[in-house]
Amino acid sequence: VRIVLTRTIQDVRKHLELIRRQSKRIGLVPTMGALHAGHASLIERARSDSDFVTVSIFVNPLQFGPNEDYLRYPRPLERDLEICENAGVDLVFAPEVTEVYASEQRTFVEVSRLGDHLCGAFRPEHFRGVATVVAKLFNIAHPDRAYFGEKDYQQLAIIRGMVKDLNFGVEIVAVPTFREPDGLALSSRNAYMSPAERALAPVVFQTLRAAKTSIEQGERRTDVVKGAAIKALSRESGIRVQYFEIVDPLEVQPVAEIHGEVRVACAVFIGNTRLIDNIAAVSPE
Ligand code: AMP
Repeated sequence: VRIVLTRTIQDVRKHLELIRRQSKRIGLVPTMGALHAGHASLIERARSDSDFVTVSIFVNPLQFGPNEDYLRYPRPLERDLEICENAGVDLVFAPEVTEVYASEQRTFVEVSRLGDHLCGAFRPEHFRGVATVVAKLFNIAHPDRAYFGEKDYQQLAIIRGMVKDLNFGVEIVAVPTFREPDGLALSSRNAYMSPAERALAPVVFQTLRAAKTSIEQGERRTDVVKGAAIKALSRESGIRVQYFEIVDPLEVQPVAEIHGEVRVACAVFIGNTRLIDNIAAVSPE
């Protein structure tokens, strides 16, 4: 069976309508394309527990800030289709911007509080753009399940919040972060880095792991864990820390003192490339 490429909302709805009539469970993997092994792990998970896997490929202008990389974001559609085909995807939905935003967009999804910190503090419209496009994709495709990476932890929390608050009948499945052997989380933006910058990148995950270890050995003082991490990251002159925070895993709010389960998350610039990553940590009783 060859992969089906749909470019219009009408077309993707028609295809999925037939699938639904066969009582097949539809899995949706929303992406911005430039697919890599991280996306492939979402697809693999979708294949293992859905009957029909749809991947959307759409670089959503609404989630990019005015000085961000919307125009230069990579769009290798042919290659992405090949990756999807090899990964056993059944259908790809790759609409043009004018298809998704056919008229002036007047309705937006804003999930309060969950977007206040971490990336939300530095990318003010970003999560509103993400939640709005994901709501559109859910209304277009009506998936039974949708797959999101823990790599974008705050995004995952916001999508869960939206689904709960707006009663979307979609089960959200979280997939662990897929990493390079040296620990760097795969990202379409990793390709922006020069070889010298790429060589610095593993320190991000090393620092997160060190923070986790410190928390799991009993350090409860947020300031101490944060201070050590920012110091370790700042030792490299090519790295600038945007944030390094310890938050509670559900509400994504910074914690004053570490108790129970937390999420340690950071964003750094290596040259002009912004990388984000996060890790779970559990404080001992
Ligand atoms: P993107 O194309 O960057 O918007 O990502 C599409 C989906 O893939 C999101 O749910 C991401 O969280 C997920 N994703 C991206 N990179 C990774 C990774 N390294 N491991 C797991 N999931 C990822």
